[in-house]
Amino acid sequence: MFSKVLIANRGEIALRVIRACNELGIKTVAVHSTADSDAMHVRMADESICIGPPAGALSYLNVPAIISACEITGAEAVHPGYGFLSENANFVQVLEDHDIKFIGPTAEHIRIMGDKITAKETMRNLGVPCVPGSPGGVPTLDEAYEISDEMGFPVIVKATAGGGGRGMKLAKTREDLEDAFFGARSESKAAFGNDEVYIEKYLTLPRHIEVQVFGDGKGRAVHLGERDCSLQRRHQKVFEEAPGPCITPEMRERIGKTCADAVANINYAGAGTIEFLYENDEFFFIEMNTRLQVEHPVTEAIFGVDLVKQQIRVAAGEDMWFKQEDLSIKGHAIEVRINAEKLPNFTPCPGTVTQFHAPGGLGVRVDSALYAGYTIPPYYDSLIGKLIVTGTNRPAALARLRRALGELVIEGVDTTIPLFHALLDEPAVQTGDYDIHWLEHWLEAQETA
Ligand code: ADP
Repeated sequence: MFSKVLIANRGEIALRVIRACNELGIKTVAVHSTADSDAMHVRMADESICIGPPAGALSYLNVPAIISACEITGAEAVHPGYGFLSENANFVQVLEDHDIKFIGPTAEHIRIMGDKITAKETMRNLGVPCVPGSPGGVPTLDEAYEISDEMGFPVIVKATAGGGGRGMKLAKTREDLEDAFFGARSESKAAFGNDEVYIEKYLTLPRHIEVQVFGDGKGRAVHLGERDCSLQRRHQKVFEEAPGPCITPEMRERIGKTCADAVANINYAGAGTIEFLYENDEFFFIEMNTRLQVEHPVTEAIFGVDLVKQQIRVAAGEDMWFKQEDLSIKGHAIEVRINAEKLPNFTPCPGTVTQFHAPGGLGVRVDSALYAGYTIPPYYDSLIGKLIVTGTNRPAALARLRRALGELVIEGVDTTIPLFHALLDEPAVQTGDYDIHWLEHWLEAQETA
């Protein structure tokens, strides 16, 4: 096992990893920008090192500075959290060259899954059902017309290098295709430096269902069921739950096994998420995330496992703690993402938190790096905390969410907490009867009301 791990991240996810390391008796090194000197992850780690100025590109994405930090502190492994360098194959390669272990999959697996066309092709070959679409990249508008006409509209033009909901444009009809095609290309070029796009059939009323997988890198893998993350705003998840309200045990078993077998087949190591759109009882693969997800706690809650500890163990060359038959679901868990944003427009709202009180009690987990007096810097993602509740079933989890939200106090900055109070009053949320567009439509209706 490692004796010291460096966490190449900030905020709640850095704390999450520090906590797992503490319990495993591993010393921790925090890295931080000059804007984060007073951040909680710096306070909680055993050691900390400043790696650059506020901008993420110069600090949390600064590979040479992170390598130096490992060398100065003697850290043997790096946990990347999510975002930043977590899906950067080049970073993994550089770590390897310096004999530092990356807590995650291999550079090759990250590369395969980071390119959405290669990812889809790999998954299709491994027997995972995919969204119908172009077999590869679509370089010209003429080809875009040809493929879309054959498939029928609506279609979605997607960036091969895309992520975070960027580089995706919908063409409802043939008339929209030219704008969607060039729009997706230029957005992708600007965001990812790559303008390759592909085309998929646009599913009109799907749910977002994702399967948590975990591999030991030696040909063994398990699945830990699914999460339903259908409540999204601008392709960003805001409310996630497990198990999925519309997934039967038989469906879970079938899609879970398909996913576990697929990653076992490629000797995948560590945690991964295979994302699907789900419509008319069918699953359609859209992408695989080769890292820990923001919403991993709902899976941890219902399976009673610590995914981060497992990641660390597997990276250290140890075996997984569980086999498929050891894994069973208990109860229902829901996570809501709390952002420092002003409603109704979700405008980022950094500033000083004057009061902070976290809810508690049975079945309540708060993952947050906030404290009273903390100043949220304007340079990073506006996620400031996650509230995760578990109940014996979905109604119990919803009741607990309402209770816990009522106890949560964050003063000094605007947050998205009122959104969740309002959502809990909605019959569709109470019954779980929504698709990925429901929240956008609901928000529009609130604005015009
Ligand atoms: P990103 O990597 O940018 O998050 P994804 O491929 O995971 O992109 O897609 C993000 C979201 O975009 C999905 O959750 C879904 O809401 C929507 N989406 C993507 N592909 C399709 C599709 N073929 N049909 C309908 N919606 C889609």
